[in-house]
Amino acid sequence: MEKLAINGGLPVRKEKIFYGHQFVDEEDIQAVSEVLRSDYLTCGPKVEEMEQCLAQYTGAKYAVAVSNGTAALHCACIAAGLKEGDEVITTPLTFAASANCILYCKATPVFADINPKTYNIDTESIKANISGRTKAVIAVDFTGQSVQNDEIRAICEKYHLIFIEDAAHAIATTYKGKKVGSLADMTCFSFHPVKTITGGEGGAILTNNEEFYQKLVLAHAHGITHNKELMEEASYEGSWYYEQVALGYNYRITDFQAAFIMSQMKKLDWFAKRRKEIVNMYNQEFSKIPEINIQEEIKESDTCPHLYTIRLNLKKLSCTRREFFDAMSAENIQCQVHYIPVYWFPYYKKLGYEKGICPNAEEVYREIISIPLYPKMGNQDVEDVIYAVKKVIAYYKKR
Ligand SMILES: *Cc1c(COP(=O)(O)O)cnc(C)c1O
Repeated sequence: MEKLAINGGLPVRKEKIFYGHQFVDEEDIQAVSEVLRSDYLTCGPKVEEMEQCLAQYTGAKYAVAVSNGTAALHCACIAAGLKEGDEVITTPLTFAASANCILYCKATPVFADINPKTYNIDTESIKANISGRTKAVIAVDFTGQSVQNDEIRAICEKYHLIFIEDAAHAIATTYKGKKVGSLADMTCFSFHPVKTITGGEGGAILTNNEEFYQKLVLAHAHGITHNKELMEEASYEGSWYYEQVALGYNYRITDFQAAFIMSQMKKLDWFAKRRKEIVNMYNQEFSKIPEINIQEEIKESDTCPHLYTIRLNLKKLSCTRREFFDAMSAENIQCQVHYIPVYWFPYYKKLGYEKGICPNAEEVYREIISIPLYPKMGNQDVEDVIYAVKKVIAYYKKR
């Protein structure tokens, strides 16, 4: 058996590899610098162009580009009309923003449990959590795999709920052949550097519904409108005239970020292809290892994977998840854990949420580790990660 690096052995890699990394090329740099040399840094033509690109790519009617994915979720909650006393069902196995956006509107997050095989929100658990106060569902395409869109939409139609899809992980994923972004009432994307495409920061909301679209436009730019049809008084005093008709925020994206994101979109199909290739290499190896479980995929989802998680079968291992994670670190494979159940955080605890409400999510959290996945990884990098996982497993496996 090989001596682990954590015990003084030779690490699998000399250089550290991280769980995610952006891919930025000269084309992106060129696209950004062109905007920096132009007249518009913000509120210019690139933002609109990017919105059209996103709508076209996903097949949604409307897109609103915003400053980040969290702002996208907040705008969606505003457009959904959430207010104090309303309940919104979401998953705990997500980044905090998926639930925080509900709190921004003074509504109440209700956590439904996940499916223990796919790790996405469980449709039965959504149903079980519906009350007379439920107004919306925020479902997250965890690691990029599409949620059960048809089932969730059917539930939402039956109970008159608004379906918001947090697709921060899932740009380029399709469900039954249709792109994520065109399926829910509103779909939110993030363009943070760890996500599949980036603008440094950035986000967007996609919708087919004109009413939501108009509300999103107001929410992301001060509640101000230049559109005469949306004005209340329209006492048109001159070309400078505009009205604030709602309370909105400044969640605008800049033109150079919009240009950056459009440049990244040109590479999106290649990013997706490379991510899938890496996942296939991982799946082939890890499906043979009884000490590891891999995420199951529903046949309806053609996934552009954002993260790759392995789930440790701790009964077959003599180590803890922490020991496994630290051993991988020492081999220079920097993993991550996605995610700590949102309601475990002190802030949520103070709001009255208790541990134990979503046992599947808690059990999955205790056993998962995200290993490196990003398109810039070469085959040697992928092989190093596989080698390190096998090395650490071989050391800790119970005999
Ligand atoms: C990244 C992420 C967000 C937030 O996006 P930002 O652009 O970082 O604000 C929201 N939800 C999920 C699931 C995410 O992964």
